[in-house]
Amino acid sequence: METLKPYKAALTRLNAYIGEHEMRVSRVREMVLEQVCLLPQPFTADRLAKACMAERISVGTVYNALDLFLSAQILHASKRQRGQAATEYELITSRQTRMQIICQRCGRVSEIHDKAIERLVQERKYSNFNASHFSVFVYGECKHCRRKIIEQ
Ligand SMILES: [Zn+2]
Repeated sequence: METLKPYKAALTRLNAYIGEHEMRVSRVREMVLEQVCLLPQPFTADRLAKACMAERISVGTVYNALDLFLSAQILHASKRQRGQAATEYELITSRQTRMQIICQRCGRVSEIHDKAIERLVQERKYSNFNASHFSVFVYGECKHCRRKIIEQ
């Protein structure tokens, strides 16, 4: 099954985090993580809560698990303004550098490849920190939205 690989990777990271922080292993939390891996990415907390409801997992448990997954760097969250702002969550499936431009009006996301930024970060040294990858999000207005404003 395709969903198995990201789940295994995410579970490994979760168990490492739980071990480091001396937390209890929770089967329900693992079930939430399973649902996260089954959802199309990115997803909202509402969407996840709905999926978990079918598994009889409470909304409170879902929100607690989301916070934990963020802390454990299993998920990353991005707030996008599409009429009403809802936080979207996405699995960090690979230790990959990502650069995106995001339209704040319509929420359109495009991948960009900026070699200059990549080189800049890679050459940077941080004391007591070993950087593996990074994310860059550039916010603004896409050409479609800009055209709409000009036409008005
Ligand atoms: Zn736009």
